[in-house]
Amino acid sequence: MKATVKLTDNITLEIEEQKEMETLHKAIVLGNPRRHCVECDATEGFYFTTNKSTTDEGTFTYVNYKCGKCGARSKLGQYKAGGYFWNEFEKWEGKKQTKEEPPTPEE
Ligand SMILES: [Zn+2]
Repeated sequence: MKATVKLTDNITLEIEEQKEMETLHKAIVLGNPRRHCVECDATEGFYFTTNKSTTDEGTFTYVNYKCGKCGARSKLGQYKAGGYFWNEFEKWEGKKQTKEEPPTPEE
């Protein structure tokens, strides 16, 4: 099963998984990031960002949906069993990159 998800005007994803549920899961999660910033109450002006962070355990790639108003980030987390989820918006100022933990899946 194949799905096409439009993230922004210039990013369109093509998702193809063997299991239909996996395709649906990824298409729905990636196509529907959180649209309410709990830090400043914004509901628009978000944009995607990405960064890499190296810790003692290795280098991790992060995909974030960022609030254009206050700079809080909603981080894309990954389930160990496969699949994604969006973390709540959170501000990261003052925290060192090296202390950033890899995303912990929430069930
Ligand atoms: Zn905000």
